[in-house]
Amino acid sequence: MTTQVKHFIAGEFTTGNGSRCISVTNPADNQPIAQVNCATAAEIEQAISNAADAFKSWRQVAVPERARLMLRYQHLLKAHHDELATILAKETGKTFADAKGDVWRGIEVVEHACNIPSLLMGETVENVARGIDTYSMIQPLGVCTGITPFNFPAMIPLWMFPLAIACGNTFILKPSEQDPMTAQRLAELFDEAGAPKGVLQLLHGDRDVVDTLLCHPQIKAISFVGSVAVGRHVYQTGTEHMKRVQAFAGAKNHSVIMPDANKQQVINQLVGASVGAAGQRCMAISVAVFVGDTKHWIPELRDAMASVRPGLWDDPDAGFGPLISPQAKQRVLGLIAQGKQEGAQCLLDGSDASVPGHEAGNWVGPTLFTGVTEEMTLYKEEIFGPVLICMEAESLEEAIALINRNPYGNGTSLFTGSGAVARKFQHEIEVGQVGINIPIPVPLPFFSFTGWKGSFYGDQHAYGKQAVRFYTETKTITSRWFEDDMSHSGPNMTINLK
Ligand code: NAD
Repeated sequence: MTTQVKHFIAGEFTTGNGSRCISVTNPADNQPIAQVNCATAAEIEQAISNAADAFKSWRQVAVPERARLMLRYQHLLKAHHDELATILAKETGKTFADAKGDVWRGIEVVEHACNIPSLLMGETVENVARGIDTYSMIQPLGVCTGITPFNFPAMIPLWMFPLAIACGNTFILKPSEQDPMTAQRLAELFDEAGAPKGVLQLLHGDRDVVDTLLCHPQIKAISFVGSVAVGRHVYQTGTEHMKRVQAFAGAKNHSVIMPDANKQQVINQLVGASVGAAGQRCMAISVAVFVGDTKHWIPELRDAMASVRPGLWDDPDAGFGPLISPQAKQRVLGLIAQGKQEGAQCLLDGSDASVPGHEAGNWVGPTLFTGVTEEMTLYKEEIFGPVLICMEAESLEEAIALINRNPYGNGTSLFTGSGAVARKFQHEIEVGQVGINIPIPVPLPFFSFTGWKGSFYGDQHAYGKQAVRFYTETKTITSRWFEDDMSHSGPNMTINLK
């Protein structure tokens, strides 16, 4: 019998009454492994109104007590690290090592949420005028929601609800319908950690659930991570409904290779950063820009990429797993075919990749293109597959100009042995996350995840201090306690503090 994925509504895990069902499949063979009943309008309403009720008491809970919930949660997540990674690997196809990394990077955010008392500290100035003090308080918003993509089913939900809840909000998580079982386990462990009923709710489904959340008057803030098209829709609809929105969207990440870089390190890093996780990372390197003579390194890069093969999640020799769905595979194969038609040279073609015994899986092998120009579809579209395209530049300036013309700005990296070159690059590049000899520079949670341009719609980013700002309001209080000698100063007819 197929597993029924459970919602978490009003403190109860339930398969729900929805009549519209979505099948969750194993990407390595496309056989069903679970089924989701999409949340009904009544279930969504129940979750939101229960979260609104829970907010009234949760916001009164002492901040150190909220931190203790996060401490218990991070302890449980660590105790269940391998179990979570196994669930995640089975529904995404990620290798076990990569799945563990997905869980771990989420646990790091929960560790950060344990610091919530100091993150919520306001500011104070004594004597802003004679006998008058001003101080600020950071207060929660109410019911917040998070809509997450398939590609990091542990890390990205954990970017959102632990910090939002630690700030005193209640939260409704709508994970990707393609791999919802990891989110269910995250919610079960949160419950086991002692979270009060109603503080976290989990609703499964697809666009219908999202669209209801975006417009609902009791939702105060929306965190979204996913594709550009949906990100724009979420941002536009959410802000039209007067909500606070942060929408993290697609990407096209370039890596620049300077002649003074270490060739072997560059090749090793490019292979992992382009085909790791089958290229299904928003920070994957999909464009390598070879400066000057480094273009002669491309044949060695090709050989290194050819030595990596896809495989099953529990195959320790597999470099990466399948794509998430047959549709995702068809899309990537279509882009590879279009690249060839438009005149790019395909030095390594993974279109026919397969894994013996699992031929029905969504396999695509490492693929490498040269001769790509800015006008080609391969360059313009986010591919989201194990495909690396090589471009060439005469100078660092030319490489920087290319990247700055690109509409996306999630991540970029530079390989060099020169501090001066690195400094120029980090100063001039119009991208929000920069790696110097680090191909995938995802910041740790005491910083924020700071995509720019078409990769992000909003103001405050994920985790770090910015997420605390996103999930809270600042209240500023100006206060005076009259002493006897101040009581007779007469009316103040100006706006000045006296
Ligand atoms: P997606 O946009 O298809 O789905 C994301 C979420 O939106 C899911 O929960 C889905 O149910 C919902 N959704 C899908 N279509 C919708 C619609 N029409 N209306 C309302 N909601 C809808 O994204 P995905 O394929 O799951 O994830 C891959 C994308 O996410 C890539 O583009 C990747 O770059 C991006 N991503 C970005 C970041 C980042 O931080 N910038 C991180 C991870 C992934």
